[in-house]
Amino acid sequence: MGSKSKKLFGEARKIIPSGVNSPVRFYKPHPFFVKKSKGDTIWDEDGKRYIDYCNGYGALLLGHARREIISAVSSQLKKGTLYTIPTALEVDLSKLIRKNFPSMDKIRLVNTGAEATMTAIRLARGFTKKKKIIKFEGCYHGAYSSVLVQAGSGSAHIGISVSEGGLKEISKNTLVVPYNDSHTLEQVLSKNKDVAGLIIEPVLANMGLILPEKNFLSDVRKITKQHDVPLIFDEVVTGFRVSNGGAQKTFKIKPDITTLGKALGNGFTIAAVGGKKEIMNKLAPGGNVYQASTFAGNPISVTAAINSIKTINKMENKLYEKLARNCELLVDEIDDLATDYKIPHQINSLASMFQIFFTNKPVIDYKTSKKSNTKKFHKLFSNLLKNGIFIAPSQYETAFLSDAHTDVDITKTIGAYGLSLEALRN
Ligand SMILES: *Cc1c(COP(=O)(O)O)cnc(C)c1O
Repeated sequence: MGSKSKKLFGEARKIIPSGVNSPVRFYKPHPFFVKKSKGDTIWDEDGKRYIDYCNGYGALLLGHARREIISAVSSQLKKGTLYTIPTALEVDLSKLIRKNFPSMDKIRLVNTGAEATMTAIRLARGFTKKKKIIKFEGCYHGAYSSVLVQAGSGSAHIGISVSEGGLKEISKNTLVVPYNDSHTLEQVLSKNKDVAGLIIEPVLANMGLILPEKNFLSDVRKITKQHDVPLIFDEVVTGFRVSNGGAQKTFKIKPDITTLGKALGNGFTIAAVGGKKEIMNKLAPGGNVYQASTFAGNPISVTAAINSIKTINKMENKLYEKLARNCELLVDEIDDLATDYKIPHQINSLASMFQIFFTNKPVIDYKTSKKSNTKKFHKLFSNLLKNGIFIAPSQYETAFLSDAHTDVDITKTIGAYGLSLEALRN
């Protein structure tokens, strides 16, 4: 790692806990520090460049500093950055979101994914007047007590199942069911009559990448309907990523509430929660479910999201076909390389997302994901970094392609995986 990054990390850790502003950003010996990014590339403070496959944990579907978005945001900057008064822009964005996600009758804009899921859960509780929520093992919905229970992402990386400082009184109202196990879900719902809602990542992208097995999502929809439990699709990763209508379009499931984030703003801070109008109308001031936020609907983020969705919709088929083709190519080649080097592995992939696991059993849930060799993964990560490829520094995250990746990038990336995997042979 370069000398400037090393020096900056030395300074950072004295003033920022562990030197980072979100846990997964730390890795050994220390992270590189970014100077700038554009399209497919990140440059570090020492002048080294990396092809990016972390892409803001999926946010940068269209690549870094996308021209259409930057130019629209630049014009908006001159007209003001924060009004905290309604704008026509918010109406435009909400209409665009509803066009892409017809299950979202009404939408409220927020800033982060965690805010969106927190509001979704409160809405479900307010609507049903019930208490408990159901989540799935390994799903990540934000870093707050009611969902930070056997969660994925950074908490799985560090091995925290319930955070210190979180109250048992809160987490005991969260029932956890294994992913891809609708049988257990049915049992849990039959036993518990006090369930306000079920929240799920339709494609689990916070435990590495785990796909829903055939019929799992339709079973979840059927079972929640039978038990009259609102179904919350947390599409913070999958929204605009799996398709321009999210996983609900791909898998043809209609949830009651949906949360969006990450790719919604292509690198700007924005998220959304929306769903059936009888549920959404419960929000204050019309209803008594309280939610509020100073920066919600700010014109900068809203402009970014509008132009992001317009750009996506303009390219629709071309964009998603290209992303899937590049992803498939990468995955096939990485799979062949790891097989040639006799390294036990699994690769899960969908649309523009993939992850490799060093294990010989299929990865279908939290337990099977946890069996993979994370030491080996860290070595792969470090080797890739040396070879100019940046992926998220944890087994329990996902690699994301963007529209900015070129054929040359894909070829270089295959070469880098080749060298990096070769060095993993024992
Ligand atoms: C990232 C993520 C969140 C939290 O979003 P933040 O913007 O980090 O608060 C929620 N749900 C899922 C599925 C996520 O991947």
